[in-house]
Amino acid sequence: MNRLLNSIIENNKKWTKEGKVASYIPELYKMDPDLLGIYVCTLSGEEYFSGDFNKKFTIQSISKIITLMLAILDNGKDYVFSKVGMEPTETSFNSIINLEIKDPHKPINPMINAGAIATVSMIAGKDSDEVFQRILKFARKISGNPAMDINQNVYKSEKETGNRNRALGYFMKSTGVLDGNVEEILDVYFKQCSLEVTCKDLARIGAMLANDGVLPSSGERIVPRDTARIVKTIMVTCGMYDASGKFAVDIGVPGKSGVGGGILACVPRRMGIGVFGTSLDEKGNSVAGIKVLEELSKQLDLSIF
Ligand code: GLN
Repeated sequence: MNRLLNSIIENNKKWTKEGKVASYIPELYKMDPDLLGIYVCTLSGEEYFSGDFNKKFTIQSISKIITLMLAILDNGKDYVFSKVGMEPTETSFNSIINLEIKDPHKPINPMINAGAIATVSMIAGKDSDEVFQRILKFARKISGNPAMDINQNVYKSEKETGNRNRALGYFMKSTGVLDGNVEEILDVYFKQCSLEVTCKDLARIGAMLANDGVLPSSGERIVPRDTARIVKTIMVTCGMYDASGKFAVDIGVPGKSGVGGGILACVPRRMGIGVFGTSLDEKGNSVAGIKVLEELSKQLDLSIF
């Protein structure tokens, strides 16, 4: 298996020359554009890796599946989806348009920025610090990485320049989607996006979801089976934003991308996969990361469809 992963990384390294490193968050633009890595955790406990699997990057929008799980655990799915929709989107991840022209009281799904900001506002905690500490604790637990923490430079950079997210937050406050202090909710959102991970962390989280909400390493149940099912379904329909249909056709497994270059993929009852390729396509998804997953899916017949 390591040999297969090595050859897939080798074959697809050329794609790191396509696309661009995210620049709208200035600190992300400092990343090396050529990186490409993969980590695979099977449900029977085997782990395989290749390329830049050890390099750290920020989790960005992949954190949205973590906060979705917590929001459902805290409130139940009916409440969460009364505030956030579950339909795919044809607009970009940070678009504001649907907040006004579709249902004005509901962002379209929890994987776009508006939906994720609304989701984080539903997580329990006496103040924003406690909410973030709960997210951090949960992320450390499901990744098996007790050292996971914020990249302070990325966090500061996002907070300084996150005016689009501020616009989404205040718009939702004006229509009653958001309760509470918008700046505090956004602060938690900026922190969750700035968590630093490796491909291994993503693969471990993917393996927990692939195992219906149970950590394969310890047998501990993290979320009810139904919650894992909902999150995986939303990943299939919305995880790659307005490129989710193509990802489903070409790769065929639940996936979630982030503008840090990571993609978390999960093959139900088989494995969790973390890939990282810094350069992004125009939809904000890793160009080479998608190619790597495409080849792996073909070689191992991973599509669930
Ligand atoms: N922190 C980023 C943002 O809010 C996350 C976007 C992403 O990864 N697609 O714009």
